[in-house]
Amino acid sequence: MKVPFLDLKIQYREIEQEVLPMVTDAMENASFIGGPQVSGFEEEFASLCDSKFCVGVGSGTDALRFALMAVGVGPGDEVITVPNTFIATTEAISQVGAVPVFVDIYPDTSNIDFFQIEDKITEKTKAIIPVHLYGQPADMDPILDIAKRHDLVVIEDSCQAHGALYKGKKAGAMGIAGCFSFYPGKNLGAFGEAGAVVTQDDEIADKIRMIRDHGQEKKYFHQIEGYNGRLDAIQAGVLRIKLKRLGAWNRSRRENAAYYNELLSEIPGVTIPVEADFAVSVYHLYVILIDDRDRLQQFLGDKGIATGLHYPAPLHLQKAYAHFGFKEGAFPVTENVAGRLISLPMYPQLSKEQIEYVAESIKEFMNNK
Ligand SMILES: *Cc1c(COP(=O)(O)O)cnc(C)c1O
Repeated sequence: MKVPFLDLKIQYREIEQEVLPMVTDAMENASFIGGPQVSGFEEEFASLCDSKFCVGVGSGTDALRFALMAVGVGPGDEVITVPNTFIATTEAISQVGAVPVFVDIYPDTSNIDFFQIEDKITEKTKAIIPVHLYGQPADMDPILDIAKRHDLVVIEDSCQAHGALYKGKKAGAMGIAGCFSFYPGKNLGAFGEAGAVVTQDDEIADKIRMIRDHGQEKKYFHQIEGYNGRLDAIQAGVLRIKLKRLGAWNRSRRENAAYYNELLSEIPGVTIPVEADFAVSVYHLYVILIDDRDRLQQFLGDKGIATGLHYPAPLHLQKAYAHFGFKEGAFPVTENVAGRLISLPMYPQLSKEQIEYVAESIKEFMNNK
């Protein structure tokens, strides 16, 4: 049996009949940038996120960068985030001229440890970016409380958490802005690059609309220098077709995670993911912890099971951040988890038989260690 890590080809077969006429229509009307598909998607995605506004942009990285710019984070400012995220989070911070300041994570959820945030706040701190890793929201209430007390803004990196809930509230809707990626492999994925910012604040929404379009309020009249960071009409059309299925797909992911949990919890030495009481995760990734991770990955690969590592090297130890001078041991929880994590195949259309095959293979590995 072959178990891919992710199967976007079966997903396409589910929506092909709707996608093809949409693409033809866009071609025939030469409607490529902006237009009714983009505004339609923005309305529908804002509604999914219980947010007043959604502004479609070119990628999740654009979303983070534009949100930081729109709230006024710039040169000399510090932004608190985690070292166990995709580098886009910290790239966005550096690219607006600010400095990322890392805080370690909880071992169980792998999300930011809010107990450690206040130690890192200085006069230069302007924002906190919690990352809702693997589809599970960070513990937002204490984070929002700390931000309020220190006059900071919270920008949610929701790039892995489309539709996830924190105490009944939507991921992305709790901070001043929520940033989403629609990279093809995300829970809601385009057929190329795409992203969005959601917010309740009309000034921030207006600013991001300007930033994504070269700083222009109307054509060729530029209030500021911006970016070329718009959402394409065809991508918006694809996202609208998939958005109708996101709820069902997220439910399937949760069912798959529950079945993995049931089968894997019986195997000694395997730590299954923890879903916090306050969270409804959308399982963008299903990540277990295990000693001897590299050998397990090889063993599963030999059996036709594709896996991933999210993420094998913490950001503070990357060459790109050597100038910060961090040594091993600086963020012990992140470093410990990075050496033991492995992401198992996870997507809505994964079959029970495939999950059983993955679990049996892990059992076989553990028994023969
Ligand atoms: C995917 C992702 C991003 C970046 O999104 P792109 O659309 O690839 O630019 C940022 N942060 C996290 C946590 C992500 O998973």
